[in-house]
Amino acid sequence: MSYDLCIIGGGPGGYVCAIRAAQLGLKVALIERYPSLGGTCTNVGCIPSKALLDSSEHYHNAAKNFKQHGIGVEGLSLDFGQMRKRKDQVVGITATGIAKLMEKNGITVIHGHGRLDGPGRVTVKTNEGESTLEAKEIVLATGSKPTNLPFAPCDKQRIITSTEALSLPEAPKTLLVIGAGVIGLELGSVYARLGTKVTVVEALDRCLPTMDGELGVELERSLKKLGFRFHLGAKVSELVNRGEDVLLKAVDAKGRELELEAEYCLVAIGRRPYTEGLGLESVGLQTGPRGFLQVDAELRTSAKGLWAIGDVIGGAMLAHKAEEEGVAVAERIAGHKPHLNYGTIPGVVYTWPEVAAVGASEEELKERGREIRVGRFPFVALGRARAAGDKEGFVKVIVDAASDEILGVHMIGPRCADMIAEAVTAMEYHASAEDLASMCHAHPTFSEAIKEAALAATGDRALHL
Ligand code: FAD
Ligand code: NAD
Repeated sequence: MSYDLCIIGGGPGGYVCAIRAAQLGLKVALIERYPSLGGTCTNVGCIPSKALLDSSEHYHNAAKNFKQHGIGVEGLSLDFGQMRKRKDQVVGITATGIAKLMEKNGITVIHGHGRLDGPGRVTVKTNEGESTLEAKEIVLATGSKPTNLPFAPCDKQRIITSTEALSLPEAPKTLLVIGAGVIGLELGSVYARLGTKVTVVEALDRCLPTMDGELGVELERSLKKLGFRFHLGAKVSELVNRGEDVLLKAVDAKGRELELEAEYCLVAIGRRPYTEGLGLESVGLQTGPRGFLQVDAELRTSAKGLWAIGDVIGGAMLAHKAEEEGVAVAERIAGHKPHLNYGTIPGVVYTWPEVAAVGASEEELKERGREIRVGRFPFVALGRARAAGDKEGFVKVIVDAASDEILGVHMIGPRCADMIAEAVTAMEYHASAEDLASMCHAHPTFSEAIKEAALAATGDRALHL
């Protein structure tokens, strides 16, 4: 068969690219090696983790927070099997929905392992055998896999990745987490809320080291209240599955030797691009540093008619970044001039409090020697936060000292995952703090913290501080 476009990988990068290309009139084939569409995000990433985060938050609130609202809960119990089952249902419905979208858009979906077979050709290996299709353009959207510790590869029994952590048979009594990044803190939160003693070992000196420094410090404080223990600046030297549990040895920031035991150890130290068996050599393509596929500013590889998007090319390993790239490539192939602004891709951590950011961090800007002003506003000073009883965290708006243009917005607190959209809009339109501060925000809402932080950034004008 012959297609205008063949996409290898049915994750958020690949399937969204397929939809946009079909909307633009292209004849599209989508190759996915697993029976279910949606990739890491839908099956073992964003969706199942958020389902468990929401369920565990309900449980935690009922156990710890309802009382202050005058609500007594007697006989509260945890049915972890049901929690997991619900998560699986949410995943199933989402993946089925994606399959329906493919059907609706007339996209040919082939379930099998795709490999490049020379320019313009893709061979797909299915249970029935191999078949080859031809395509004018090919997009590689093969995503990523968890990184292993070189001395202790995940055995999926006791030394586990996020995939196993999303489907444990029971909430364990103890859990070790290596890596205080997004996965470690989100999945650690799920289990800490269910009563698991969670201990995090992180190589660097703070949580969420890729985000603005103040966010990690504040989140560490909140998670400690939830019962997390942290060993920051620690170097793991040994990790052994002892059958019934794991033993981790490390040297902490002060040079002391640590020996930690737990039922499981979640290794969450980042993800690596997935290009295994992709036939790159057949088109003369090699992977770049750390195994990522290299692309130009328009997401073209160096091989003619071959594009790459999403986790496999690196950058922010986020579903919405992969989606934006998928849309951009489809539009470029169809002859359009798409808009893709890497400077306004938000990052969100779905812990409680939630963490969200867009634009540059204070550390990055100082390193670049930018003259900046910073406005902060704490949620505790907000009526809405007090009414809800969710008072932790703050919003921080960073602006250029001379022009007042917003360069970064960083927030930790209630509903920040959704509120960051306002900051994205503002930055997309090159708004100044004055612009944001002069917009009316409904009262009482959490979003007033953004206005107040913007007022603070324009020059100490916050009204409720
Ligand atoms: P993927 O989603 O990895 O999809 C690639 C697809 O390609 C897979 O389905 C794979 O089976 C298929 N494939 C690979 N090779 C072949 C081949 N040769 N032939 C056929 N098929 C192939 N991001 C967020 O933005 N928000 C979140 O809340 C979030 N939560 C996450 C939670 C966890 C636990 C994890 C692990 C990740 C999370 N992410 C989140 C990251 C997000 O899942 C990824 O950034 C996103 O899925 C990347 O999309 P992609 O399309 O590039 O790759
Ligand atoms: P990450 O990069 O967020 O965090 C990895 C952490 O592990 C870092 O803090 C790093 O310093 C630490 N680390 C690395 N090697 C170590 C070692 N040997 N010992 C101790 N600590 C070590 O990676 P992740 O949490 O594995 O997540 C992978 C990707 O998935 C991320 O890029 C993230 O964007 C994406 N993701 C996103 C979301 C979300 O958007 N909410 C949720 C989950 C995952």
